[in-house]
Amino acid sequence: MLDIQKVRADFPILDQKVNGKPLVYFDNAATSQKPQQVIDAISKYYSEINANIHRGVHTLSQLATDAYEASRKTLQNHINARHAHEVLFTAGTTHGINLVANGFSQFVKEGDEVMVSAMEHHSNIVPWQMLCERTGARLTVIPMNDRGELIMEEFEKLLSERTKIVAVNHISNSLGTINPIKHIIDKAHSVGAAVLIDGAQAAPHLKPDVQALDCDFYAISGHKACGPTGTGILYGKEEWLNKLPPYQGGGEMIKEVTFAKTTYADLPHKFEAGTPNIAGGIVLGTAIDYLNAIGFENIAAYEQELLEYGVQKLSEIEGIEFVGTAAKKAPVISFNIKGIHPYDIGAIVDKMGIAVRTGNHCTQPVMDRFEIPGTVRASFAFYNTKEEIDALAEAVKKAQRMLS
Ligand code: PMP
Repeated sequence: MLDIQKVRADFPILDQKVNGKPLVYFDNAATSQKPQQVIDAISKYYSEINANIHRGVHTLSQLATDAYEASRKTLQNHINARHAHEVLFTAGTTHGINLVANGFSQFVKEGDEVMVSAMEHHSNIVPWQMLCERTGARLTVIPMNDRGELIMEEFEKLLSERTKIVAVNHISNSLGTINPIKHIIDKAHSVGAAVLIDGAQAAPHLKPDVQALDCDFYAISGHKACGPTGTGILYGKEEWLNKLPPYQGGGEMIKEVTFAKTTYADLPHKFEAGTPNIAGGIVLGTAIDYLNAIGFENIAAYEQELLEYGVQKLSEIEGIEFVGTAAKKAPVISFNIKGIHPYDIGAIVDKMGIAVRTGNHCTQPVMDRFEIPGTVRASFAFYNTKEEIDALAEAVKKAQRMLS
């Protein structure tokens, strides 16, 4: 059970007024807020141990290196990776996906296929399109039904020996759908395709087990899971990371450099060129520790309560149309009010202190699929409350009265 008042006390940003009203932050799918423990850890790093890592013999450099590598271990344990060197620090999900898509130029050729789904974020579409442009491979797309669920029969029909990699999200950011990724991974492997899971929206809500899933890659952004912006991890199976070429060249990622030839460092350093976001990487571990201390089972149970309550409350609004009504959903509610542009709703509820996102949520093909310009999206976190949902429902009703 969550002690919600105790949890909220950890998030200083929540205790403020916006436009004269208590802030209600329902844009968690865009980025989460940060607990004091994370804010303090950033300050502590810069106040006490700031130094460059993996190079200095001096004490601070060793302390910073140890903290950075300890965080990698925290992330390894969190996702149950077999080895710490299968966990690469990245700037976020986008970085992780691009790293893999770029390297896959070596494994994809004309006539091959690269598969994504109809509900991907642009960052899990565009890098694969760029791969297809470079190699002459073809992009195939798993379609979805009217509830915003991937159609597994169609997926299985599309899958063939030509499919080299399947890239799908664990949870959709605009619909909230939780996808049957274990099934997708097993089916893809049966034709020899690799699988990348975009875990950007899953990281705040669940603890992925990459060995149980048997995925080849799993990408996460730290900032959506209470960590700092510009942080993330890419999990890759050791054999894949050994096969993939480096993404960026530079310091740290080499064994030996001569003008004749350069050899690359072992994992994970082969993929970590240059001075990384040291503070960010360390504090990402703090954020994951924080979430684990609250407990993902507690988080999921409470968030499902919020989701059910939110759907029920918002259903009372006349003319509301929910977009994404999958049977298995994360606490994300996308909706439209008949005859009103989503942007107008967002702008009015903001005046009442309520932060929601409006637009296509970087999933333009999802909007095209439903033939809508965008949605209003309220995405909940474990520090939100039912009272805040009441405030949202009232604010949307008020906006509707003003606009119609
Ligand atoms: N995939 C999904 C499903 C997302 O929601 C996001 C962020 N909105 C991304 C990828 C990209 O993450 P980032 O911008 O942190 O790299």
